[in-house]
Amino acid sequence: MTLTSGLGGQLSIDLGALARNWRALDKVSAGALTAAVVKADAYGTGIEMASKALHAAGARFFFVATPDEGMAVRAAVPEAHIFVLYGLYPGAANLYIRQNLMPVLSSMAMLEEWLAKCVERNEAYPSAFHFDTGINRLGFRLGEAGAVRERIEKLGYAPQMVMSHLACADQPNHEKNRTQLALFGSVMAQFPGIPASLANSAGLMTGRDYHFQMVRPGVALYGGRAVNGRKNPMSPVVTLHVPILQVTEGRTGEAVGYGASHTLNRNSRLAVLGYGYADGFPRSLSGTNARPGGKVFIRGKPCPVLGKISMDLTVVDITELGPDLPGPGEGAEVFGPNIGVDEQADAAGTIGYELLTALKGRYSRNYVGDGNLPDG
Ligand SMILES: *Cc1c(COP(=O)(O)O)cnc(C)c1O
Repeated sequence: MTLTSGLGGQLSIDLGALARNWRALDKVSAGALTAAVVKADAYGTGIEMASKALHAAGARFFFVATPDEGMAVRAAVPEAHIFVLYGLYPGAANLYIRQNLMPVLSSMAMLEEWLAKCVERNEAYPSAFHFDTGINRLGFRLGEAGAVRERIEKLGYAPQMVMSHLACADQPNHEKNRTQLALFGSVMAQFPGIPASLANSAGLMTGRDYHFQMVRPGVALYGGRAVNGRKNPMSPVVTLHVPILQVTEGRTGEAVGYGASHTLNRNSRLAVLGYGYADGFPRSLSGTNARPGGKVFIRGKPCPVLGKISMDLTVVDITELGPDLPGPGEGAEVFGPNIGVDEQADAAGTIGYELLTALKGRYSRNYVGDGNLPDG
């Protein structure tokens, strides 16, 4: 393929696949509401377009990290129910109320600030309560559940939802899943009748016990692998092609890139790509003589990275493509039918989430399809 945009590279985002993924997860979680986690610019796919497509597919509940992200979803989907995972920023209650954002409250200080605003305005503004059941990140401590309950009982306030987050859901047999499930049960017992939510993508796939009233998938919507050691059932959403800038030849014994870390062991044809770590290509995919690196695909054939990945440039070996050389402007596939986000991530020693959320490079973003595909 030849690339045409002024940025050279092209990121393609398949909104139809995004919608299909939401619907597939919604089938698995039948009986529970299926929310959509769209934090971090919808895992790099674009929060406005992704939220619209997810809404068209049927999603009504959205999770973001920051109030700014909440405002982006509000603008894209005026009727969305939006939870802000970072909770209540001090002094920001009026903004949340104006934008109709629900803070996911995770500390007594946040709770008191929210309740004070409710009392001041004489209205029970909705929120969710987040309890930590063993990941030691955000959340009320387990021991606070009784105090939280007493505090809201006095005021006659009730949250929309109580939630927690799993530490090891990507490993379905990890004993911590059962432990957290049991601890979450003890939290729920303090809030009878209040809807509950525990599962991320992996929790959703782990089993019905984890679904409760709402599931909160993120990465699986975007085609990422949620559960380790299993075939990923989701449709890929992102495709990335980056431009070949120049094709050159290197002789045996010459070195490629910063630090001269790869010495050619044969006369080679090289393609210089307009793509580097500033565009989200992890430097850990650099290829040295000691340790082979990552690869991209040109004309469907694997082309290994040679030498250090630089900020703006990556050199790949195209010797195996044969005499009909690709030329400047032709695209190299970074994510696509030949290699997925998670395969690149595995090679780089990271996770698909990190590569998706690093999709902020110098390439154009193109959307294909929408959320309105018929069920199929
Ligand atoms: C990010 C996040 C999710 C979504 O997780 P995935 O693994 O991407 O499905 C769900 N819940 C909380 C609290 C999160 O922070």
